[in-house]
Amino acid sequence: MSSPRTRLAPSPTGSLHIGNICTFLLNWIIAKQRDWEIVFRMEDIDGPRKKSTAIEESIDILRWLGIDWDGEIIVQSDRVESHKAMLQELIKKELVYHCSLSRKELKNVLSAPHEIYTNKEPIYRPTDIKLHNSMTPNDSTNWRFVSNQTTHVVQDELCGTENYDTSHDFVVWTKDNTPTYQLAVVADDHHQHITHVIRGNDLLQSAAWQEQL
Ligand code: GLU
Repeated sequence: MSSPRTRLAPSPTGSLHIGNICTFLLNWIIAKQRDWEIVFRMEDIDGPRKKSTAIEESIDILRWLGIDWDGEIIVQSDRVESHKAMLQELIKKELVYHCSLSRKELKNVLSAPHEIYTNKEPIYRPTDIKLHNSMTPNDSTNWRFVSNQTTHVVQDELCGTENYDTSHDFVVWTKDNTPTYQLAVVADDHHQHITHVIRGNDLLQSAAWQEQL
């Protein structure tokens, strides 16, 4: 395994709350104690929810808490070209398909009894992904990941081993031509050689999707 490296990855969608602070402090303490490298990544791709003052504010708060990191701050939106390259790779491997239907529209389509339906989210996957993708998508379309596992086991050092439902084809690229959190995090963690992720347990479900990706 490459040398241990973790990341602090705030999203500038508002003021940091106590849960964020707790996670960052724990992440930093564990990293310092075990001599891991720490990357700071500002996850600013969530356009509509982004608050202009929140970037500086979260950096100031972390510095005030005495938290430090190695190297320059990495800004996620600077890496959108790499995220696009990942989407292209997934298209090439037929692991994604374009889908312009909203959740609501998917539900309506799925009133047809022959389609697959799960309690969590409907799946309306084309049978021939290559053929489907060869048809020019609309300018604004989502791309969904072909989830070939109905469940996925995540091993977390604190929460233990748990099975998560991964049966729906989650969106990796949005109608607004931006990567989703799921795709950007996987691309960036890989690119930045992150070996250890410490985050809130509300992201365990996401970890299951991200491990598939
Ligand atoms: N940026 C995410 C957040 O603030 C966390 C990212 C992650 O741990 O994957 O919720």
